[in-house]
Amino acid sequence: MEILLGIIVFILGLCFGSFINMLVYRTAERYKLINNEKLIISDKGRSFCDYCGKQLKWYENIPVFSWLFLKGKTKCCHKKLPVSYPVVELTTGLLFLIFNSKFEIFNQIQIFNFQFLIGLLIIVLLVFSTAFDWKYMILPDFSTIILVSGALVLWFSGHFGEWNYFLSGLISAGFLLVLNLITKGKGMGMGDVKLAVFMGLLLGFPNIILAFYVAFIVGAIYGIGLMIFKKANKKKQVPFGPFLILGTLTAWWFGEKIVELIKLRL
Ligand SMILES: [Zn+2]
Repeated sequence: MEILLGIIVFILGLCFGSFINMLVYRTAERYKLINNEKLIISDKGRSFCDYCGKQLKWYENIPVFSWLFLKGKTKCCHKKLPVSYPVVELTTGLLFLIFNSKFEIFNQIQIFNFQFLIGLLIIVLLVFSTAFDWKYMILPDFSTIILVSGALVLWFSGHFGEWNYFLSGLISAGFLLVLNLITKGKGMGMGDVKLAVFMGLLLGFPNIILAFYVAFIVGAIYGIGLMIFKKANKKKQVPFGPFLILGTLTAWWFGEKIVELIKLRL
């Protein structure tokens, strides 16, 4: 039974991943990052081809599988579909699964647990922000605002009275703001500063330190890797949002265990 429910959560994650891909696309449209007159069709609501605007059949719209069956190309006009589509879907599915296992036993009652549901909402928005920042170097405000609200609700229901969460948010944002000013916005965008408010509110101290630690270490390794493989273009910037989000997820789900391990070593 538990396995079956795990599969259901995973498939739910795949479907939300598909929704995230659409949200990335439509947000880019709204921000005028994509120019394609045919895309006006997208207002009709149902899924459509990214290139020619043709409405998709149901079997062209199944998470991961459609991409595999169609060999990463659109059926209507044979244009290449980004690898990011199945990657986003799989990632969301896996994150749902891990989060579900954090809630120990997933049962009918769990579905109606609002902390669990807000957790899922936060995961969806984090994957969305990662994908969008990776592609367009922007962390959309609407996503961050909902994330901050979600973190506030979790704080109210789980950590009410623990003011260090607010302090963590403030100090984190201040820290990134200083980096933003020093690097004149090249290393750290204002989107990252706003995201840090969410991170602090969700994680509190000392988990917030762990989140930043992971973000900076992995970000640095990625940067060095790019340089070694000479893919780094001095003009092309690397978004920092995805690394902050990776750090956030690590600290959110494994923070307590990791902090405990560090304490044992000391
Ligand atoms: Zn097409």
